[in-house]
Amino acid sequence: MDIFTKFKTLDTAFEQLSAVCKHNPFGTTIEKLLSATVGIINGQETLLFGTNNYLGLSQSDAARHAASEAALKYGVGTTGSRIANGTYSLHQELEHDLAKFFNRRSCMVFSTGYQATLGMVSTLAGKDDYLFLDADCHASIYDGSRMSQAQIIRFRHNDADDLRKRLRRLGDIPGNKLIVVEGVYSMFGDVIPLKEFTQVKKEEKACLMIDEAHSFGIFGEHGRGIAERDGVEADIDFTVGTFSKSLGTVGGYCVSDHPQMDLLRLCTRPYMFTASLPPEVIAATKANLEIIKNHPELRHQLHDNASRFYHALRQAGFLTGPDISSVISIILDDVPQAARFWNRVLELGAYINLSLPPATPDNRPLLRASIAAAHTTDQIDKLVQIYIQAAQDVGLTLNNK
Ligand code: PMP
Repeated sequence: MDIFTKFKTLDTAFEQLSAVCKHNPFGTTIEKLLSATVGIINGQETLLFGTNNYLGLSQSDAARHAASEAALKYGVGTTGSRIANGTYSLHQELEHDLAKFFNRRSCMVFSTGYQATLGMVSTLAGKDDYLFLDADCHASIYDGSRMSQAQIIRFRHNDADDLRKRLRRLGDIPGNKLIVVEGVYSMFGDVIPLKEFTQVKKEEKACLMIDEAHSFGIFGEHGRGIAERDGVEADIDFTVGTFSKSLGTVGGYCVSDHPQMDLLRLCTRPYMFTASLPPEVIAATKANLEIIKNHPELRHQLHDNASRFYHALRQAGFLTGPDISSVISIILDDVPQAARFWNRVLELGAYINLSLPPATPDNRPLLRASIAAAHTTDQIDKLVQIYIQAAQDVGLTLNNK
């Protein structure tokens, strides 16, 4: 008996994928970065359209300088947990900056976005509570729900009526109810109809947590996300998010007005039992938050780019999602076709993400592009041409009649 026997199905699936896809879609190496949007992959200059670097800030001069200074001043790691030796003034300053940015009483900074959602979901929902999760919520939310020991109730994706029905079915029972949703869903880039959800939350006296991982810095007049865009921030109890997308670094946060948030620092395992973020990451994140505050033109540019790409894909006959956001995906028929398409796009000079079932909505394969403010219109138009060429090369029928 080999301990790896249980991975046989995965092994077979990966072998089948490799047979039709020369390059490993899950093992791409960026050999050199030439800018926020161009890198060298397999020795070839490649347009980067699969990086989540939505505002191009992983390359910002301000963040690089802040990171270098912090590394020189404090060293490159804290070597400890936030509740031991791992809290520097920098961590507290960033928490203060984020709380102020969101107009909230408190903020907790975590070492990754994954840990922020994992920690908040698993700690807030106790064993006598009920978690209502959108069917398409991110893996970190589902992992947190399993850690929580709460009762898990899944509702249909983006369907507030289905959520209402399920809450009502539960009736007036003891135990708290926590609803967890996302601003922009990561696979398909579709946006939540948030007002409908805040209405249900109020009617049913539940708590509401929103993960704004893909919408922070991008939606809302000040970049605070979909809750700001829809004017419902007052109805959100907990907002979580990540530094690894629009902020261009790594880490995660939760902001809230709850007066006892600090108690969570003493019982949230993914916050307590891991080392805190290194000083250079905190300093870079603080610098990039200032850019997000002071440069709304970046998110306007991103929306223009996303709209250009989305409409060109529709015009060419690709099957896209319903919304225009930083993530624009196309749906393909089957896994081998999607893998061949991804491979061909790479050969033609662009890197995008291949997303496969079971991680995708409706178990359909997706090709996912993340659009950045830093992309030029030429780069966007080039990617559209590459998609059209790849479709032809892999025999994908486009619906452009
Ligand atoms: N939430 C959502 C919705 C995400 O898409 C992601 C990352 N893709 C995370 C949380 C985790 O963030 P990180 O990768 O920064 O840990």
